[in-house]
Amino acid sequence: MADALPLTLSTPMQYVKGVGPARAGQLLALNIRTCGDLLFHYPRDYLTYTAEASIKTVKVGEMATIRGILLQTRMIAVPRKPRRFEALLEDASGSAGGRCVLTWFNAYGLDQKLQPGMHIRVTGKVTVFRDRPQIVQPQWEKVSDGESAGQTGERIEAVYPATTELTSAVMGRLIGGCLEELVGQVAEWLPAGHLAERNFMTRREALVKIHQPRTRAEHIAARRTLAYHEFFLHQTAVALKRYHARNSNPALPLRVDDAVDGRIRALLPFTLTGAQDRVVASIRKDLGGAKPMNRLLQGDVGSGKTVVALYAMLAAAATRRGQGPVRGQEDAKEKGAVGRGEAFEGHQAALLAPTEILAEQHSITLQKLLEGKKVKIALLTGSMGAKEKESVRKRLAEGSIHLIVGTHALLAEAVKFQSLALVVIDEQHKFGVEQRSAIRTKPMEAGGGMTPHILVMTATPIPRTLAMTAFGDLDVSVIDELPPGRQTIHTRLSPSSSREDIYGWVATRVKEGEQAYVVVPAIDESELELRTVAGTQEELQKGPLKDFRVGLLHGRMATETRQHIMERFRQKLIDVLVATTVIEVGVDVPNATIMVIEHAERFGLSQLHQLRGRVGRGLKQSYCILLGDQATEDSIARLQAMVKHASGFKIAEEDLKIRGMGQLLGTAQSGSTDLHFADLLFDPHLLPMSRRDAFNTIAADPRLLDASHGELRKEVLGKFGDTISLADVG
Ligand code: ADP
Ligand code: MG
Repeated sequence: MADALPLTLSTPMQYVKGVGPARAGQLLALNIRTCGDLLFHYPRDYLTYTAEASIKTVKVGEMATIRGILLQTRMIAVPRKPRRFEALLEDASGSAGGRCVLTWFNAYGLDQKLQPGMHIRVTGKVTVFRDRPQIVQPQWEKVSDGESAGQTGERIEAVYPATTELTSAVMGRLIGGCLEELVGQVAEWLPAGHLAERNFMTRREALVKIHQPRTRAEHIAARRTLAYHEFFLHQTAVALKRYHARNSNPALPLRVDDAVDGRIRALLPFTLTGAQDRVVASIRKDLGGAKPMNRLLQGDVGSGKTVVALYAMLAAAATRRGQGPVRGQEDAKEKGAVGRGEAFEGHQAALLAPTEILAEQHSITLQKLLEGKKVKIALLTGSMGAKEKESVRKRLAEGSIHLIVGTHALLAEAVKFQSLALVVIDEQHKFGVEQRSAIRTKPMEAGGGMTPHILVMTATPIPRTLAMTAFGDLDVSVIDELPPGRQTIHTRLSPSSSREDIYGWVATRVKEGEQAYVVVPAIDESELELRTVAGTQEELQKGPLKDFRVGLLHGRMATETRQHIMERFRQKLIDVLVATTVIEVGVDVPNATIMVIEHAERFGLSQLHQLRGRVGRGLKQSYCILLGDQATEDSIARLQAMVKHASGFKIAEEDLKIRGMGQLLGTAQSGSTDLHFADLLFDPHLLPMSRRDAFNTIAADPRLLDASHGELRKEVLGKFGDTISLADVG
């Protein structure tokens, strides 16, 4: 019969002894299909049982584990109070005082489970109730009458994610039942010696100890081991990507000489900040090399990343095709693409933005800067007419458009370039998962077997170590300085009941000539009863802001309408703009000084910070009002973090605390959901260590062809094969 067959990691659960179709179905609800899935169903917590104490000697205020028989139990219902379940436990120390009261609140159904005469073991903190020891809300387990009193010392038990049918105890038994038989089949991709040197267990040992630790120290050591394994695998994939990105196709070297540098700077309406200067210097160096640039530019909202991108794009356009850079001062002045020479001879650059509004805005900025110059710039977005798109594509292919700004429509098959030297990806974190994978798997071609240089920009300042994980295959630059004259934005949290006052105040500011955004979470009416854009606009226009022009903007409007509205807002023909989060990224109107966010509790922390970044872009004092009713613990923490911190880096750290690393990484990139134990807050040394080890491994064996790397290779390709090209490694 089936149960005689030896188990493997891929054996379906229903063939495991004691598991029938019904149980297999229940397991499926926990995503456990095979024995392997079962083995990697990790505990979510541990219960520690301290050594059993006798009730006579327990100390008030301390944790204790006691074992005994239940004498009485009763459910107590008091009107308007949670139900309480009380039991009296007597232990072997006898009737001479060895009795303890156990109390549970909200204990529905407990009267079914706990009945007089039962032997149980409980753990909890000892308090006093009517002169008796009491434990409130104790952990409990049933024990058999005959169990010897020899339970000494600490005991630790795994608690599993469970369902009503599949309790943690059942999971523990199932896992315990096949752990020994299966653990020998689990892949070991790191040599035992390497692990021992760093004080880790083998993966198999760690797996046993994560399920069945004997002590706390053991499960912590097991957790470190598994975290290191996860990080190492992840960083190996990163190292592979990086190695092969640098050693595959060459890039067009764009040597930006001082003349070109000077001309580009002269175009900009301001002097670069020190931080911008430093980044520009790194980019100049990168662009000059034959290895493609792969740089991540991180900078808080409003720190001035766009200008840096412009610099890089203009550098591409200013570098002559064929002969390399324009040589000589005279010559450069005459013929440089950024100057006013005759025919254009530079390369092309593309700027990829996550939203149409942002793309439109970038294109306007570029147009203004380049007015009267030879460099031709165009926009390409999904909502443009087919004819218009066709014309842009044609001009891109023949090289008469030099700078192209667009959304992911630029990634479409039909878009071909004549000589694409640089791709800038703005607000990378705002691209959807699918678009991100398209950027990765369908890189734009430079033509002639060349790889374009890549500059990725993000305003979700993520802690440096996390950046290493999420974007570890990139070089990282940080703009850690705001343009001069910026004021800290005053941020204030107000209950929605104070709306009237707030908008009254907004009216006084607008009267002074300032402009405001009002962000609402919804376009349409919904059962959630959130404010809608149209509803709010109407309400404000009729009520508190009746003397002013209140506009409306959302993502479902036609591109032209949207452009038109943004332009009117920019020109101060609209005073207050009620919008959805379409304005979240990039929108730049320095005269807007007020941001009101309705239902602020519904937004994520980094989203709130992004939204706030729409104001405080000029020299005037700016304000951000968070209108919200604090719904959950998390939303309170988010809103308070907003009031407390102005810096995006601080905000990001708070976000990391609130949301945890897995989630943050999940939004930063795909393919990292396998980080179960890898948690930066748990042990900050593990990531740098695993990174070093992984990079050394790849430096020594870039294709993982060494026999000793067989398991590692299989594992990396299995997990990250979609993000690293098989051809690179295969
Ligand atoms: P980010 O994209 O990083 O959020 P932007 O590039 O949109 O920031 O810049 C924010 C604002 O600061 C813009 O209005 C921009 O013109 C201005 N700015 C950027 N760099 C400087 C600088 N060096 N000096 C003065 N203003 C600057
Ligand atoms: Mg920007």
